[in-house]
Amino acid sequence: MRFRERLYRFMQGRNGVDALAKCLNKLSFGCLIVAILFTFISVICLRHAAPTGALVFRILYYVTYGIGLLLMGLWIFRVFSRNVAKRQKENTRYLYRVQKCERRFASLKQRWKDRKTFKYFRCPQCRQMIRAPRHKGKIRVTCSKCTHVFITKT
Ligand SMILES: [Zn+2]
Repeated sequence: MRFRERLYRFMQGRNGVDALAKCLNKLSFGCLIVAILFTFISVICLRHAAPTGALVFRILYYVTYGIGLLLMGLWIFRVFSRNVAKRQKENTRYLYRVQKCERRFASLKQRWKDRKTFKYFRCPQCRQMIRAPRHKGKIRVTCSKCTHVFITKT
């Protein structure tokens, strides 16, 4: 228990593990695993007398290994950083971006799902995404965001 208490004391006033740190951790381990894979491929290339391939995969190994170490360094820096306010701001920004990506992905999925029944297009004035049922010929569209009226084919 003493170790736990000491660790708790040590971590007080530090950022600790947040969502961005977890993401950095996964990415860094991912890079290291890919790096190991590249080493194997490089060795296989050498066995099959392909020195160019071996060299390419050796370089790829160094690159991914370097990126992996860098990400791990960032992860450690985040977890033990005492500038909690700044780290929290970065984490919020990261979460916001993840959310935006998820929304975009969900909308693409939806578009793909009803690609046969709906046509998607953007308002020429404000770029708002609008959808209308397909096969209705020329229709008059009023943008829900800026109330711009335009004609489009469906
Ligand atoms: Zn509009």
